Amino acid sequence: MPTDTCQRIYGPGLPAVRRYLVNIDSAGTAQVSTHCVVIGSGIAGLRAAIEASRNRKVILVCKGSIQDSNTYHAQGGIAAVLEKQDSFEAHLADTLKAGCGLSDQKVVELVVRQGPGLIKELVEWGAPFDRSGDRLHVSLEGGHSHPRVAHAQGDRTGTAIAQTLIAQVQQRPNIRVIEYFFAIDILTDKEGRCVGVIGLDQHHGLQIIWANHTVLATGGIGRIYRETTNPPVATGDGLAMAYRAGAVLQDLEFVQFHPTTLYVAGASRALITEVLRGEGALLVDTKGRRFMPDYDPAAELAPRDVVSRAILAQMRKTDSTHVYLDIRHMDKDKVARRFPLICELCESFGIDVSRDLIPVRPSAHYMIGGVKTDLDGQTSIPGLYACGEAAGTGLHGANRLGSNSLLEGLVFGRIVGLHIANSPVNDAAVIKHPVIQYKVPRSDRSRLDTGDVRNSLRALMWRNVGISRTGKRLKEAIDIIGFWQRYVMDKVFDDPEGWECQNMLTTAMLMARSALLRKESRGVHFRSDHPRQDERFKTHIEVVRPPDKDWS
Ligand SMILES: Cc1cc2nc3c(=O)[nH]c(=O)nc-3n(C[C@H](O)[C@H](O)[C@H](O)COP(=O)(O)OP(=O)(O)OC[C@H]3O[C@@H](n4cnc5c(N)ncnc54)[C@H](O)[C@@H]3O)c2cc1C
Repeated sequence: MPTDTCQRIYGPGLPAVRRYLVNIDSAGTAQVSTHCVVIGSGIAGLRAAIEASRNRKVILVCKGSIQDSNTYHAQGGIAAVLEKQDSFEAHLADTLKAGCGLSDQKVVELVVRQGPGLIKELVEWGAPFDRSGDRLHVSLEGGHSHPRVAHAQGDRTGTAIAQTLIAQVQQRPNIRVIEYFFAIDILTDKEGRCVGVIGLDQHHGLQIIWANHTVLATGGIGRIYRETTNPPVATGDGLAMAYRAGAVLQDLEFVQFHPTTLYVAGASRALITEVLRGEGALLVDTKGRRFMPDYDPAAELAPRDVVSRAILAQMRKTDSTHVYLDIRHMDKDKVARRFPLICELCESFGIDVSRDLIPVRPSAHYMIGGVKTDLDGQTSIPGLYACGEAAGTGLHGANRLGSNSLLEGLVFGRIVGLHIANSPVNDAAVIKHPVIQYKVPRSDRSRLDTGDVRNSLRALMWRNVGISRTGKRLKEAIDIIGFWQRYVMDKVFDDPEGWECQNMLTTAMLMARSALLRKESRGVHFRSDHPRQDERFKTHIEVVRPPDKDWS
């Protein structure tokens, strides 16, 4: 494990969760065994499965269809050094600068150097990246000192990459995909080693997948917030599962908010990529006044966190629920060619981008922190790996550079898969099945409307653990989440809706606790009561479930 100095939160105040969400009797549960189980079908999980399958049997599970992921929705592109004028040193420097002193330089170097080769491999596998002559076309994005963002089918990069990887997965006989399998908990034996996962399979009910190696690639947490760009699968399940199992998590206070998501009542908060601002889109308030130059010399091209806070401030000033993106002055044909998804989306709400302003506001977008991993993607629990958005590798530090997350998922997905494929464990014999019996104490409290709890939590997180935070509002959030936890966490649910609610509460509490502890502003974490960066906090905040027997 990396040996950074860190503040570690243990004990009172952390969510008092039990070890498993459901009753387990391993002997009486449907079960299968494999060398490796991958939880998640985004870029990280798919890439990990492909690599591990070179000489291991892999089961890949996902809670929706194989396409349901953040990856599928990614628009702008994937960053890598792809032009002669660019360099690894420049990509490294840009990433470290964005990370505000918290990026792990070794991780950044690893990711930056492996990026170009893995994008080349995607091209060989048929990914339809946009081209400029015989080379990939690369765009310039905020925070990058060179054009290095490769994109596919305009703003459909995530879909194109996911489809390419899914096709590769489907060609490999060593990989079995189980869709609509909700992973409830990762299983550990008496020595604390991860031995697989228990979940709800749509055909077989509760099922155990025993595995020598378990990969958490469960993606992000956006759905914990009322306003988010993330699809419904992003409820932070992986983080809560890892926490219950005793893994170390880090950097959970760092949530990136995307400044511009479409704000139309009744529509989901679809992202309007910042490449649009890179190509000339302006931000105006509801009075039609361009306001970004008042907040930052880089105006619309300022970093995401600066633009998000400026939009929020301008919304307050003008007493409005949103601001607008203005692209009416841009070349209509070029916009249609370069941003077909956005044009289509706006059109579906009667917005003609060549004539009308596009209503936007910020939304929760990306979880920077996650399950702490080392350079091989291993977590603090033997046999458990994490990669992609669910992992806390230290790449992004306190702020993520745009288009570096698909890159991280691709690189660390492969690293994890490779480590599993090369593992010295004698996988010829798959894992011995330990006996796991776990009985949840009976709760006699009343039944619950979990939908209501989820909505209330999402509103609370948006209000109190959002773009701009204060100690007072964080404490209030902790108290309220703690109160909800008292009557939600003792229940035994038998459907994903209830388990997601428990996971969301657990993850939200860890995030709020971490944010309260960081009494400074750094990267995406902004405390209006501590508005400056403070060198005493140039450290990671880790959370670990207390080793308290009463809780297991
Ligand atoms: C709208 C949007 C646009 C974006 N644009 C960009 C961009 O241009 N460039 C960039 O670099 N990044 C972008 N991002 C971020 C990037 O897409 C994600 O960080 C990245 O795709 C995460 O990949 P992943 O493999 O870690 O997770 P995901 O792609 O989110 O996949 C998570 C998987 O885990 C599964 N899962 C979750 N919980 C469970 C459970 N309990 N049981 C079973 N399965 C479970 C899900 O079903 C899913 O298959 C964007 C994100 C969004 C939402």
